[in-house]
Amino acid sequence: MDLKDHIRAIPDFPQPGILFRDITPLLGNPVAMQYSIDRFAEQVADYRVDYIVGIESRGFIFGMPLAYKLGVGFAPVRKPGKLPAAVHAASYALEYGSDTLELHQDAFPTGSRVLIIDDLIATGGTAAATAELIEQTGCTVAGFGFLIELVGLGGRAKLPDVPITVLLQY
Ligand code: AMP
Repeated sequence: MDLKDHIRAIPDFPQPGILFRDITPLLGNPVAMQYSIDRFAEQVADYRVDYIVGIESRGFIFGMPLAYKLGVGFAPVRKPGKLPAAVHAASYALEYGSDTLELHQDAFPTGSRVLIIDDLIATGGTAAATAELIEQTGCTVAGFGFLIELVGLGGRAKLPDVPITVLLQY
């Protein structure tokens, strides 16, 4: 199975100069979609994960089925103003623009080991801000999982020194 067969490149989206890696063909293919979740589960099997966080919004798509498969809880990291209870916040720079992310302060018991999941790592700002949020809750980042890594942008250099799983690279 070559997952790249199911990723579509859309030039100049959402703005000129960005080559957008569109995962919707993969999501629409039941074999490729199941294969992705199964590979994620195999590759993080020894990370000793207590919880998964998915980063809004495509991190939810992979994070939740993975949490189900690993038998652990899930928490969403969301854009500002979406989570109803008390939150921690962290700001970050995107490949295009900048934003803030929020996580419920009581998302996990203190000391939990948390796996961070997103569809893609580009500059690494989003994932690094999410790691800051986990640390604000008094928990440990057990690792990161991305379907896609844009290697040329060097995002993994921004992340803490924990295991990183990626299923395909450009
Ligand atoms: P970054 O913070 O630069 O690592 O950006 C990662 C976030 O932006 C992820 O949530 C991705 O879904 C999204 N993203 C950034 N660049 C791209 C791209 N070229 N194609 C698809 N999604 C992207």
